[in-house]
Amino acid sequence: MTFSIQGIAVARGIAIGRAVILGSGRADVAHYFVEPAQVPAEIERVRAGRNAVVDEIHRLQVTIAGMGPKEAPHELSALLDVHLMLLQDEELITGVKHWITDRLYNAEWALTTQLEVLSRQFDDMEDDYLRERKADLEQVAERILRYMKGMGSPVAQPPAPKRKTQQDLLLDDSVDVPLVLVAHDLSPADMLQFKQSVFAGFVTDVGGKTSHTAIVARSLDIPAVVGARSASNLVRQDDWVIIDGDTGVMIVDPSPIILAEYGFKQRQAELERGRLSRLRHTPAVTLDDQRVELLANIELPEDAAAALKAGAVGVGLFRSEFLFMGRHGGDMPDEEEQYLAYCKAIAGMQGLPVTIRTLDVGADKPLEEQHRDLAHLNPALGLRAIRWSLAEPEMFRTQLRAILRSAVHGKVNLLVPMIAHASEIRQTLSLIDFARAELDNRGTPYGPVAIGAMIEIPAAALSLRTFLKYFDFLSIGTNDLIQYTLAIDRADESVAHLYDPCHPAVLRLVADTIAECRRHGKGVSVCGEMAGDTQFTRLLLGLGLRSFSMHPAQILAVKQEVLRADAGRLEPWSQRVLDSEDPALAMVG
Ligand code: PEP
Ligand code: MG
Repeated sequence: MTFSIQGIAVARGIAIGRAVILGSGRADVAHYFVEPAQVPAEIERVRAGRNAVVDEIHRLQVTIAGMGPKEAPHELSALLDVHLMLLQDEELITGVKHWITDRLYNAEWALTTQLEVLSRQFDDMEDDYLRERKADLEQVAERILRYMKGMGSPVAQPPAPKRKTQQDLLLDDSVDVPLVLVAHDLSPADMLQFKQSVFAGFVTDVGGKTSHTAIVARSLDIPAVVGARSASNLVRQDDWVIIDGDTGVMIVDPSPIILAEYGFKQRQAELERGRLSRLRHTPAVTLDDQRVELLANIELPEDAAAALKAGAVGVGLFRSEFLFMGRHGGDMPDEEEQYLAYCKAIAGMQGLPVTIRTLDVGADKPLEEQHRDLAHLNPALGLRAIRWSLAEPEMFRTQLRAILRSAVHGKVNLLVPMIAHASEIRQTLSLIDFARAELDNRGTPYGPVAIGAMIEIPAAALSLRTFLKYFDFLSIGTNDLIQYTLAIDRADESVAHLYDPCHPAVLRLVADTIAECRRHGKGVSVCGEMAGDTQFTRLLLGLGLRSFSMHPAQILAVKQEVLRADAGRLEPWSQRVLDSEDPALAMVG
């Protein structure tokens, strides 16, 4: 039966494919396709993992048999019996084989997929005792996965994503149909590991439009919907689904008529992409000859390729924290590793400037998965970004040295996130001096950098005089500026309807920052999601903005808006929008 689920649109386009449901905490499991010839080896890996767990349980049973009831209560041996029974369950075994043989999933993916199928069956059981066996099943699967991890995978590289149109789908229901990932939640680090993945679209139950998970999803340039509430519960493994990334709707089990309609929309979007790609080499200049700088936001050095391909004239925001995330055991990239990563981004941009933002961890970007449990009640107001760096000066200086060294190889700007206090500014600048002195002492060469601050806390936007005194340029982080001005958690879908870039207070802070920078001859850009949203291009141009930084996927659409705009004529209109009680209405009126 066809039904639809409404969520929040985060990345444009239409994806049509089969759902892959990812249980919570399963994102660290590798997802890739194997070659048909590798199927027997993958099945063997699961079998060997399962046999190892069976042996382990048998050994435990022998040990327990020699113990008294105090050391080994009866429940323990009953539990082991249940685990053994589950390990021998036909449905588990045949299901895993099916996912490997028919869908060519790798062993771990096949196991977690079948686990998800069986978990649903347990959820539907009337009997409380049987329903509770779901936890045992999860433990058993976890044990097998652990063994399989120890054995390693014979397949080195997952293949590139496969995209298919609806037309292809109707003709071909074979293993390489597009897959759409449906998960309860994905951390930004999880999302990052899907950069090279096989998925044609994403849906998550939680998250807001500018949560970092959504931002990474957008950078993947595939349709995505977040905040779809209970989507991961309502959709079943392998259901056909359509994701409409423009409206935030997911359609489950679509009828042929709906499929045809969305297939048409999909082809239209492809045509539009083709049309926009012709603008790649066209300079971004308004009708009244105002030159506009369109820069890229990147998460990893490899993203420089997409930035160049989209015609970016530099990187306006390199979110360096993604180099630090998803690593295990508290391991941080050392100076050399960071230096090489920054050099790679600089080389990737082929002489164009690169703005490297210092570490912005905390809130919805924990360094490690387990740190999430330690989150304070209000992590967005806690030890985040520059606050974290100043609390870890050694780590911060390591990063600063790596950035300064990389500046030998190209034009580098250093950008400081979430800074609000004059004392933080002074501390940051003196740590930069300290890092330079350390390099001098070591005799290590380094290059000049322009130093900028992000304006993402209202306090910063209201004390611009201090910022303009100390910094070479400012970059407005509208994602956080909106969050902190309106007291709306950007990652919380339950208040997403109040997250309003058009609130007069937000627009006032943005407008004043742009105007003050221009008055003082300082560079200013917007690097929050507003910069890549074509709804706001004309308004920002009218407010005097000439530098926009956004995900590469949005650059050409924004360029099209710039080419059609007359900045001079937009000025009085923008002031009227700014002064109105309801700017969103005034913008369209
Ligand atoms: C912002 O807050 O607008 C910004 C660009 O930084 P981030 O999204 O990484 O917090
Ligand atoms: Mg921010």
